[in-house]
Amino acid sequence: MKKQINEAVNSGFSERCEKRGLRITPQRSIIYEELMKSADHPTADALYRRVRKRLANISFDTVFRTLMTFSENGIVNVVEGYGEMKRFEPDMENHHHARCVKCHKIIDFKNEAYDSIVVPQELQQRFKVLNKRVVLEGICEDCAKK
Ligand SMILES: [Zn+2]
Ligand SMILES: [Zn+2]
Repeated sequence: MKKQINEAVNSGFSERCEKRGLRITPQRSIIYEELMKSADHPTADALYRRVRKRLANISFDTVFRTLMTFSENGIVNVVEGYGEMKRFEPDMENHHHARCVKCHKIIDFKNEAYDSIVVPQELQQRFKVLNKRVVLEGICEDCAKK
């Protein structure tokens, strides 16, 4: 499993960096790898704490700036924040989000019907869609038990 993740990182990451003319540094690779391993859509701060375990001298600022560079180049996605702190995830295949309104957990899920959602004509004329994602809001299992 671990090996698979590393391979996925290496293939997709380096290709996309190359395409965008982004230099691949060990620092950037580690930041991306840690994000790939994080299924929880971490904030920059949470990711910084994970990266620091491998790169003791890295600053929060560097991690944040790297994430923003990645997101400007389509290598990671900034996940909808609703006024909370920005959260990040690696750019994976098309998937959708179920978001808990209580604990703000975001659960990834796949659904083919959602993938092929059609943008209403009326909106197409005044809005250029770059990315389509369905976000379901609700209460997660853990919060429902409380
Ligand atoms: Zn919850
Ligand atoms: Zn996601």
